[in-house]
Amino acid sequence: MVQQSRKNRSRFLKVKCPDCENEQIVFEKASTVVDCVVCSKVLAEPAGGKARITAEVLETYE
Ligand SMILES: [Zn+2]
Repeated sequence: MVQQSRKNRSRFLKVKCPDCENEQIVFEKASTVVDCVVCSKVLAEPAGGKARITAEVLETYE
């Protein structure tokens, strides 16, 4: 993963799928629906510039 200098406007979230407990990284400002790679449950959906996370957020990376 490319290391960028500190710009805190784009963050990544580590989320856990509520259905299958798969953990994956979601861009905080996802502009498209993000599905779980394992079970295809929607984990995040775009909502006015910031994604609405529908999974449990475990960690935030800046
Ligand atoms: Zn899942």
